[in-house]
Amino acid sequence: MSGSVGPNEKGYFGEFGGCFVPETLMTPVLELAAAYEEAREDEEFQRELTYYLMEFAGRPTPLTFARGLSEEVGRGARIYLKREDLLHTGAHKLNNTLGQVLLARRMGKRRVVAETGAGQHGVATATAAALFGLECVIYMGAEDVRRQAPNVQRMRILGASVHEVETGSRTLKDAINEAMRDWVTHVGHTAFILGSVLGPHPYPMMVRDFQATIGREVREQILDAEDRLPDRLVACVGGGSNSIGLFSEFLADDGVAMVGVEAGGEGVASGRHAARFAGGAPGVFQGTLTQVLQDAHGNILTTHSISAGLDYPAVGPEHSRLHQIGRVRYVDVGDEEALAGFHFLARREGIIPALESSHAVAWVMRTEVLEPHELVIINLSGRGDKDLDEVARQAGMGA
Ligand SMILES: *Cc1c(COP(=O)(O)O)cnc(C)c1O
Repeated sequence: MSGSVGPNEKGYFGEFGGCFVPETLMTPVLELAAAYEEAREDEEFQRELTYYLMEFAGRPTPLTFARGLSEEVGRGARIYLKREDLLHTGAHKLNNTLGQVLLARRMGKRRVVAETGAGQHGVATATAAALFGLECVIYMGAEDVRRQAPNVQRMRILGASVHEVETGSRTLKDAINEAMRDWVTHVGHTAFILGSVLGPHPYPMMVRDFQATIGREVREQILDAEDRLPDRLVACVGGGSNSIGLFSEFLADDGVAMVGVEAGGEGVASGRHAARFAGGAPGVFQGTLTQVLQDAHGNILTTHSISAGLDYPAVGPEHSRLHQIGRVRYVDVGDEEALAGFHFLARREGIIPALESSHAVAWVMRTEVLEPHELVIINLSGRGDKDLDEVARQAGMGA
């Protein structure tokens, strides 16, 4: 994997990562790691995955020159959008769920469980499970079930059962806890399909590898279009899978700068945000040692973002490493700025982006953050159909 910085055999990226799970999960996690190592080297598995990525999911996705955005930013900037919004189910998530569900089938599992926040990962898991004929159970916080009704409907139509989680803040982190509990109980025939580069080893590595298809395509596409590598890559960072999928292919290219955009919410000073690198500290959370938003006693803080996909208190351990060594710069963009990016892209490029991706667009639109004549690629992680109600609600409140 070109430019990848690990992890080591214990799942550590420098001092971050690892595998912090209860005794009962140790065996299934090791089993999964072994099965993945094997599948990774197996040409037949890779060929099958590539087949479904192309013939079912619609890869490769286009790399679109963004004329309106380039003009707006000015100073000779040339900005391209990697169009994961055009992938089947509307976001990059399917790259990962196709890989993990194929692996589950290879391991002889009949049933998959997954967590979901906004519902994008739940929909992508239910889609892959339907394709391969596996039983699918999705855990979703009761609060998110209420906020994301259309995605709940999609999952049920795809044949998944959606379990509402009533514990804790009734959102994503509680859904992950429940999905892990289910996995422990039914581990013989069940696989746990995790949605981002989070959790215990091997998930951060495996999800990165499955998402790295984004960066591999971008390298080829930008060399075709511009005959050179980009100066900068920009992507939003929730758990960190779409960004690492773009970045990993270029980590060894010193001339390629990288920016990860976290959710600044209502501002870091307000405490209502999900900017882990601006306001967090290292700690163990949901199976991995990484940068986490926590108080002085190690209690996990509540987060806020206009985009549910960025609204999570921890970030993938590889990002913590890339931050520590200074290879990737992490910034935050707030709710209002992200909304401005959303509307700009809709009106000037004819693309309605996900609110998550809008954070990356908005950072590029800040005055003179780019050097003159930069060649920039923004990962458009998903489409904004799921966000129309939220955007309308915001517009109503502002009026
Ligand atoms: C889930 C999601 C994200 C955030 O997750 P990452 O793992 O950080 O990529 C970003 N954008 C979209 C459209 C999503 O669905």
